[in-house]
Amino acid sequence: MRSGNIKEIHNFEDLFGTRNCIATMELPTQLDALIENMPVNSKYTVEYFVYKHTLFPFLAAFIPEERANKIIKTMRNGEGAVSYMSLGLVTSSVTLNRYFRFCPECFKEDIERFGEPYWHRSHQITGVFVCAKHKIPLYNSTELIRGGNRQRFIGASHANCIVEKEISFPSDLMEKMLWLAEDAEILLNNQIGFKEHDWFKNQFRVKLIEKGYARMNNYIHQKKLKEDFIEFYDYEYLKLVQSSLPDKSGGWLSDMVRKNDRTTYAIRYLLLTRFLEIPVVELFNTKLGFNDDNESNIDAYQELWDQRLIELS
Ligand SMILES: [Zn+2]
Repeated sequence: MRSGNIKEIHNFEDLFGTRNCIATMELPTQLDALIENMPVNSKYTVEYFVYKHTLFPFLAAFIPEERANKIIKTMRNGEGAVSYMSLGLVTSSVTLNRYFRFCPECFKEDIERFGEPYWHRSHQITGVFVCAKHKIPLYNSTELIRGGNRQRFIGASHANCIVEKEISFPSDLMEKMLWLAEDAEILLNNQIGFKEHDWFKNQFRVKLIEKGYARMNNYIHQKKLKEDFIEFYDYEYLKLVQSSLPDKSGGWLSDMVRKNDRTTYAIRYLLLTRFLEIPVVELFNTKLGFNDDNESNIDAYQELWDQRLIELS
């Protein structure tokens, strides 16, 4: 969340009274006023704050730009507290973390580098259980994210960041947890451009066809997709990341690949993206297409045909 620039940290400290409120878990409003209170020539903007110091770039990664801009507008000058839930960035079936989380190794490093620890933004994502940097489990602090004393934010310290019992995950589980931690970090740390719903649908569709889960005529083998998806991740893990699929239907997974405009929790997009072996950056930045040697590939042939016609004329 913070760069290694100590001076920058102190600027923020002056501004917010404490370093740690930057890790605010609900989206802050009245950011315009906050920016106005900054020293003249300050390089900080609402966008800077939103993208560098909140979970917004992660939670809003899969929503269309127009909606994202509306949310940023609310953060600029909205009334009262807005929650990720009320903005539809987190589905009601997801229970957000109750406590601030920490990585014991980052904790130590922060003290060495900055003289004190702080709450890392990437550790506060519901569904992320490990530190992508140190590849070790995250621990709950005793500090509540919501409720409790909302008047002030309490920083990470030796008093509230205690490892009472060491956590260890089996290596296959650890591997899956690291995927999510790493992919979530990519979304947090890169200001990836927003895309419309159809963009993701099409990207997924290309891979679904390539992997035999869909046909060119838009038929999707929902049952096979669901079975293989569950086998790939395991029931227990999907439960852990609050992305279980119901017995009787395809649940969120079917919704995600079907034609509909519903957005769900960002974690779920990342789960499908990994399952389909699409690198996160590619999902956003590279329009996926079909291999030319794929004979069932109507689109590609159509395109080739059209091109030939142009060449002939
Ligand atoms: Zn760490």
